[in-house]
Amino acid sequence: MTSREPALPLYHLGGRCRSIPGPVRTVLLGATGSIGTQTVDLALQHPGEIRLEGLTTRSRVADLAVLVKRLEDVGAADRPWISVLDIDAHAAAAADPILSRRLLPPGEDGLLAAAGLEGVDCVVNGLVGAAGLAPTLVAAERGRRLALANKESLVIGGGLVAEAVRRGGAEVIPVDSEHSALAQCLCGRSPEELESLILTASGGPCRDWDAVQLANASRADVLAHPTWEMGPKITVDSATLMNKGLEVIEAHVLFGVAYDAIDVVVHPGSVVHSLAVFRDGAMMAQLGAPDMRVPLLYAITGERHLPLATDRIDLKALGALRFAAPDEERFPCLRLARDAGRAGGRMTIALNAANEEVVAAFLADRVGFLDIPRIIASTLDSTEPADVSDLETALAYDREARRLAKERIPTL
Ligand code: NDP
Ligand code: MG
Repeated sequence: MTSREPALPLYHLGGRCRSIPGPVRTVLLGATGSIGTQTVDLALQHPGEIRLEGLTTRSRVADLAVLVKRLEDVGAADRPWISVLDIDAHAAAAADPILSRRLLPPGEDGLLAAAGLEGVDCVVNGLVGAAGLAPTLVAAERGRRLALANKESLVIGGGLVAEAVRRGGAEVIPVDSEHSALAQCLCGRSPEELESLILTASGGPCRDWDAVQLANASRADVLAHPTWEMGPKITVDSATLMNKGLEVIEAHVLFGVAYDAIDVVVHPGSVVHSLAVFRDGAMMAQLGAPDMRVPLLYAITGERHLPLATDRIDLKALGALRFAAPDEERFPCLRLARDAGRAGGRMTIALNAANEEVVAAFLADRVGFLDIPRIIASTLDSTEPADVSDLETALAYDREARRLAKERIPTL
């Protein structure tokens, strides 16, 4: 078994996460979400280090106006560019004294314009779902540092992102806590030293539930995540273990490590964020409180480890670290994702598209928890593997998989 594939990894192993001297001129995609507001919090703590040149939302314009005002009050922004996707919300932004000053067009045009703004060092992609891919490609073509939280970009378009990164001379720094941990462990290491990766998983709120409890798991049960506070889609993904499945694919794309050499271990405390295993058996891990601002700060500003007001782990109080094997019988999404990852191309697009549709249906109380893996598996069974060479093909496969998944979701 070889642990690495011939394809060049996206994350430059052996390189370093270059420090960008502050203020890092930053565009924040998805400013009103969980990742977005945590990024704003970092800029508020470090106005001299992070300066927001552009912010986007889908529809939450009132929230966005508050964020911009707070940023301007501390000098972390000055009349930033604003993109509002939704057409009605855009009309509201046009009537807002703060947001209307530099308002980009509504729809994807404005979002892509924000992703490609001139005079920017770093683009934080905190969008959720496949909608993040096109902005990722724009930022990569422009040669920006991409602080990438939107893992779906890499799951559905890993090859396309890699090409755009090479063409544009961009750098991708993962924000996902596991991949940030790995990036920090692998920083300055030669690729030959690496043998395998171990991703940790909290196991989610339903970790110890039996089949009957899982069948009856409600939206409220699933949204009560034990360690992380995140947007609704990724919280459901954490409960099904699809999040970890998407992260296995993300790790494969980022670090160029073969699927057989990427292991997953359940670690309920979310203290160890992931581990790199070297060829002499040495394991290197990154530990810390579960706080996404840590990987965000690292991705935006680089290896400087700037000060951050966050909890410190008290190892003496903690006493022990617990690890266990994931149960792929009760949580089949992990296996579905691995299989789709191995097949590559169209299959990872179908996996992600079916997952997005069925998770939205679960959040709308239209399907049960166990319908999630069932509908994804059935969608994948009806999909023929194929390569993906451009964004249009990727989007066409995405639409087709959504159609197949929706056919399998009962209508009200
Ligand atoms: P949220 O749902 O909290 O936020 C998503 C943001 O994107 C919001 O600003 C939302 O606007 C905007 N948005 C949603 N859909 C679209 C669209 N179609 N087009 C343009 N903008 C859109 O998500 P999270 O912050 O939780 O997650 C963002 C990404 O980061 C995901 O890929 C997730 O997997 C990843 N991630 C998140 C973590 C976390 O702790 N939250 C941890 C690790 C990874 P509006 O507010 O108007 O809806
Ligand atoms: Mg993660």
